[in-house]
Amino acid sequence: MWHLPVELIDLRFLLLTSLTILIGARGAVKVPRFNTYVTTSDTFIFLAILLYGGAAGILLAAADGLSSGARVVKKPRTILFNSAVMACSTFLTVKSLDLIFGIPTSLVHQSFSRVLIAVCVMALAQYFSNTGLVALGMSFKYNQPFGQMWSKNYLWSSITYFAGAGAAYFIASNIGTIGLFAIFVATLMIAILYFTYFRYLEEIRATAAQAEQSERERAEAERSRAETERERAEQAERHVKELNNYITEQERISGALEETKEHFRHAAFHDPLTGLPNRAMFTELLKAEVDSKHRHSDLFAVLFLDLDRFKNINDSLGHTHGYLLLIAFAQRLERILRPTDTLARFGGDEFAILLTGISDSNDAMRVAQRVQDDLTLPFVLEKSSSFTTASIGIALSTSGYEKPEDILRDADTAMYRAKENGKARYEMFDAGMHARAVSRLQMESDLRQAVEQKQFCIHYQPILALESGRLAGFEALIRWNHPKEGLISPTEFIPVAEETGLIVAIGQWVLEEACTAVNGWHQISPTHRALSLSVNLSGRQVSQPDLVDQVKRALGKSKLNPHCLKLEITESVVMENAETATVMFKQLRALGVQLSIDDFGTGYSSLSYLHRFPVNYLKVDRSFVSRMTETEDNAEIVRTIVTLARNLGMEVIAEGIETEAQNEQLKALGCQYGQGYLFSRPVVTAEVLTILERERERGAEIVLSETANQEEGVLASVYQM
Ligand code: C2E
Ligand code: MG
Ligand code: MG
Repeated sequence: MWHLPVELIDLRFLLLTSLTILIGARGAVKVPRFNTYVTTSDTFIFLAILLYGGAAGILLAAADGLSSGARVVKKPRTILFNSAVMACSTFLTVKSLDLIFGIPTSLVHQSFSRVLIAVCVMALAQYFSNTGLVALGMSFKYNQPFGQMWSKNYLWSSITYFAGAGAAYFIASNIGTIGLFAIFVATLMIAILYFTYFRYLEEIRATAAQAEQSERERAEAERSRAETERERAEQAERHVKELNNYITEQERISGALEETKEHFRHAAFHDPLTGLPNRAMFTELLKAEVDSKHRHSDLFAVLFLDLDRFKNINDSLGHTHGYLLLIAFAQRLERILRPTDTLARFGGDEFAILLTGISDSNDAMRVAQRVQDDLTLPFVLEKSSSFTTASIGIALSTSGYEKPEDILRDADTAMYRAKENGKARYEMFDAGMHARAVSRLQMESDLRQAVEQKQFCIHYQPILALESGRLAGFEALIRWNHPKEGLISPTEFIPVAEETGLIVAIGQWVLEEACTAVNGWHQISPTHRALSLSVNLSGRQVSQPDLVDQVKRALGKSKLNPHCLKLEITESVVMENAETATVMFKQLRALGVQLSIDDFGTGYSSLSYLHRFPVNYLKVDRSFVSRMTETEDNAEIVRTIVTLARNLGMEVIAEGIETEAQNEQLKALGCQYGQGYLFSRPVVTAEVLTILERERERGAEIVLSETANQEEGVLASVYQM
């Protein structure tokens, strides 16, 4: 300010100052990507140096520094620093020009080459000093190397200084010719140039900003994409893991499910004891065979097997032994059969075999015979060994079956036939059997009617004391007086009555009827008050829990002396119900009733049971008596039975005595009682009364055999055996 030539200050200078402060400050433009501002004020400062000398230029620079600094920042210290930097740098420029070219104001009149150099010096000096000072300040502020600071921010900006210096020179050298107007024009040009440049910079800045923004967005998008990708990957991984877990779990679960299903499937179609197919599976296989028989000419057969007296084995040897026997039996059968045959257990002691691809009935019969032969060998089970036999029924596909049930039914029928024919054998189903099965069905319905209409009558067979030959009692034997068929033997209808349960009602009727009849005879003929009555009880009746009550009721109604009543129970029935029989027998004995084991020798009596039964009589089966005279063996059996009975405190009754020889032999063996055609067939009540009367008349000398012989012709017309 001290060196400012006041005389040179004119309107132009004030105008220049104003422009510098207004435009220069306002036109501060940030250089994109660099931390620096470019102002047009450099041109005006250079112009001031060239027109009004160094002092004017330095003052203008200081003023410009203040105004441009204030526009950019708020801090006074920074504004002052900015102003000081501008003043100092301009001072250095002015001093450089001074040193090289002398007074700057004289430069406008000098040669072009000199001026060019001067402009360059001016620009360079201003550039270096200005940017250098700012870079120095910033390097202190940010604690960074000066060179790095400068080159990073200001290297390029020298151009503006050169442009500014050139413009200033142009204006100053032409100011004389075009006057003040030139300044305005120049200013306008500069303004236009500047604003063009400004716009250009703005655009660059916008573009840069946009670029930066899109770069940021891109980076952001990239980042979020990566993030999403990562999350997705993680999620996918999680899903895969979960899925894997789920799959493993399912495989577990479904594995167990499959197992359970398989278990149930197996259980539904197999017998748990032997592991063999059960009835359901056998029926399925049979159905397939029945269905396919239309397609080929091969025959197939069904064998129905039932172990004989299995219940007996179970009761006498225990259930464990029974189970073991069934398993061993199944294993034996499997060994006999071909792999293509099917063996099944239907439950209990029932088995079935399906033979496929056979050529005729002989093939099926051969298998049945193999089974029978095989059963002649004992089963060695745990500690004990035992024998068993089987009854087998065979049905062949030649009968043209449409349903598996039909062929099974027929095989079953044949099996029953085998049982009836003496067990331990096989029977081939035939049309006759079918007819019998049908007539059996017919019998069933007829029998129901018979019970309702009381179509029964009782015949009585005398029982004698063999030694004295005197009448000891009667056995009541039922007959069915069929309206169409005539008299039907109990051997025919009793099994049907047993199966249907009708035997309970029939048995009760017999008991009451016979007791009443015999009590009547006791009344009519007082000399026969001790006559006994034997009544047969079937298996079904014995298993009735109220049997004792039924007997009591019959005795009550008939008023028969309980000691005169003998109840006969077949040996096999007794042994099949050994445990309950023991209890029942004791109760019956408590009533005063006597007990006989019928058909003794045909069943499998367990001696230990026999010993415990409170039984009074053993009735030797007819088969032993009838063959007694043929072989010594049968006589031995009878002798053994007599001895056994004596040892057990029982008496023996022989059935079916038909000849005097048998009578004599039995007497010799010590058999106490006997009944048979030799003495009398079973007779109707009227005949009984005749017998009683004759017996009374003849007294102790009456020979019943004669009576029987005389009666035979008459009785035979009444009842045919
Ligand atoms: P059972 O109790 O063993 O009766 C003896 C059977 O042998 C009777 O046959 C009788 O007529 C027959 N009989 C007697 N002496 C001779 C003889 O010298 N030679 C021959 N060949 N046979 C003789 P029946 O009357 O046909 O009775 C058969 C079976 O029916 C009886 O055998 C008995 O088990 C059963 N039964 C008969 N009546 C009844 C009854 O009221 N209730 C029950 N549950 N079963 C009965
Ligand atoms: Mg009997
Ligand atoms: Mg008998």
